[in-house]
Amino acid sequence: MADIAVIGGGAAGAAAFGELLAQCHGGTVHWIVGPETPGRGVAYATRDDRHLLNVRASSMGIFLEQGEEFIQHASRQLGQVKGTDFLPRRLFGDFIQAQVGARIDAARKAGRSFRIHPESASEILRRTEGGYAVRIRADRWLEVSQVVLAVGALAQRPLRTVSRAALSSGAYELDPWRLERHAKAPRRVLVIGTGLTAVDTLLSASMQWPNAELVAVSRHGLLPCTHAPLPLASCPRQQELNQALLACDGVAPMLRLVRKAMEDVPDVDWRSVIDGMRPINALLWQGLSNDQRRQFLRHARWIWEASRHRMAPASGQLVQQLQEEGRLQVHAARVLGVEGSAPLQVALRERATQLVSTLEADLVIQATGLDTAVAYGAHDLLAQLLRDGLAVADPLQLGVLATGDGQLLGASGEPQQGLYAIGSLLRGNLWECTAMPEIRIAAHRLAAQFSAQRAAAQESVGDSHNG
Ligand SMILES: Cc1cc2nc3c(=O)[nH]c(=O)nc-3n(C[C@H](O)[C@H](O)[C@H](O)COP(=O)(O)OP(=O)(O)OC[C@H]3O[C@@H](n4cnc5c(N)ncnc54)[C@H](O)[C@@H]3O)c2cc1C
Repeated sequence: MADIAVIGGGAAGAAAFGELLAQCHGGTVHWIVGPETPGRGVAYATRDDRHLLNVRASSMGIFLEQGEEFIQHASRQLGQVKGTDFLPRRLFGDFIQAQVGARIDAARKAGRSFRIHPESASEILRRTEGGYAVRIRADRWLEVSQVVLAVGALAQRPLRTVSRAALSSGAYELDPWRLERHAKAPRRVLVIGTGLTAVDTLLSASMQWPNAELVAVSRHGLLPCTHAPLPLASCPRQQELNQALLACDGVAPMLRLVRKAMEDVPDVDWRSVIDGMRPINALLWQGLSNDQRRQFLRHARWIWEASRHRMAPASGQLVQQLQEEGRLQVHAARVLGVEGSAPLQVALRERATQLVSTLEADLVIQATGLDTAVAYGAHDLLAQLLRDGLAVADPLQLGVLATGDGQLLGASGEPQQGLYAIGSLLRGNLWECTAMPEIRIAAHRLAAQFSAQRAAAQESVGDSHNG
């Protein structure tokens, strides 16, 4: 039995499925995509063209060997586009679907076996003889030798401070991508969060409800920084800095080094120093102890996220315009409670003054970003894997424990042979593993590894026959 199951119909699942079709021969590749349109996932399902990619077109792709394909695809739809542009995410969703479609056609022509299942995987059992059984319906199991979990981040859980009444009022929205279901125009919309998802939410809300007052709240009240309109020159001392960072013990000395590098080369844009660290970010993270990681999450994450995960210049301009027109206010405050029904009463403690105040909002939208706390999320499959000891939650709630190549560690501490993850579930292992530049590398490597394992297994069968 040489079948493989890829679970998850988002961009990471699409990348893994396409790479496996191209690289891994023998057996059936099953892609279990759930009920939504395969290939788009959370990020690329949007139809709102104000939702832009936060990576330049030239760095976006689904398969590793791709160069200009996305730019060519976008040019066919929009006319001439440049590699430096930040394009609508919708276009990238179309591109993924076209690219996976092409891989499917090629696989068909080559007589490769594959199946796409519109169900969700609800259970994975380890077979004593090796391999796994993956349940996709009450009475339907797939027997496979390898599984790739590409299930993305968890659905958002309501903040602990939100009352039951508020949750059931219909005025508290947990899915920031579903604003269209609020037919009645609110007078005031309060968005909890000020990261990239919150920015998209604010842009959609400003369009959908042109007369609504918008308020965004997060502990530090920091919106993402903005990308430079054109790519920046790299920092001449980057290599030196990266080597010094890799030799650091702990977060504080790392931050001091980065700050000093920015001061020492004032002619270099600080953003290029941050971008130049991308090749070593995973290594830096892996070099930290759990305590040091905790320290980073508590004290430096907010500034790192805002500086590293920047918004497209056009998004930055729209947000600034909303602020200048007085339509958007951003608060650095802690949400102490959300009570009542429409309108909701949101109690805030302002960071600067520690003063507590209550804001009334007709609609509160939670846009707090990636949730990878698998031990607390309501994801049936992940809950079952944890229960059965096939997976262990990361101690900092950043996905699951895994080996360097993404193989899950079980409750016994042993790698679960043939059970892999890709994308957000590996945050604890790699920290940066959720954007397409990282996902396409991971998908390619995984398929190459599976292919090499198959070749080695066949060789050993051949040897034993010959012997
Ligand atoms: C709003 C937003 C904007 C982003 N913008 C960019 C960008 O511009 N550039 C970039 O490089 N990266 C961007 N990212 C990062 C993004 O996370 C990745 O690019 C990529 O989309 C992640 O895909 P994924 O497949 O891991 O996760 P997801 O998109 O979450 O897809 C996972 C899928 O698996 C499904 N699933 C879950 N459980 C099961 C199950 N048991 N059975 C079957 N299916 C299941 C889910 O329903 C979902 O459809 C963005 C992310 C977000 C959220």
